[in-house]
Amino acid sequence: MNLTGIGYDVHRFAEGRPLILGGVEIPHSHGLDGHSDADVLCHAIADAILGAIGERDIGHHFPNNDPAIRGMSSLEIVRKAAELVAAEGGRVINIDSSLMAEVPKIAPHLDAMKANLAATLGIPVRRVGVKATTNERLGFVGRREGIAAMATASVELPDQ
Ligand code: MG
Repeated sequence: MNLTGIGYDVHRFAEGRPLILGGVEIPHSHGLDGHSDADVLCHAIADAILGAIGERDIGHHFPNNDPAIRGMSSLEIVRKAAELVAAEGGRVINIDSSLMAEVPKIAPHLDAMKANLAATLGIPVRRVGVKATTNERLGFVGRREGIAAMATASVELPDQ
């Protein structure tokens, strides 16, 4: 059977941190605040994968107070979410995602993010969607307070 999950995440900008999205370090005056590398895109994607198989969210599986999470690449969180799918005999078919960021320009980095995510999930790049939009200067994204991401994941599980 085929199942679908959604994920959503937000991180606020913080000075003195690298900006990492989809495992790609993007030159910018600010990074994102968070306990791990604060990769908001990976977090939304991991939640979408977990949601597709009815698992609890990444805050449950990868708690903030776990020292092992500190500084960890969030691609590893995506990988571990996909491993939970594999543990049920299933596989991730595709993911799609959108980043909402007023700054910096994301488009030049989309292909590198897609390549990272495809390699992490072991699926073709053509099965990975990463898109980006500004928020037309509206709301917290528009005020450049942070970056938001949403994602979907499609998963195939053996019929039960
Ligand atoms: Mg997060």
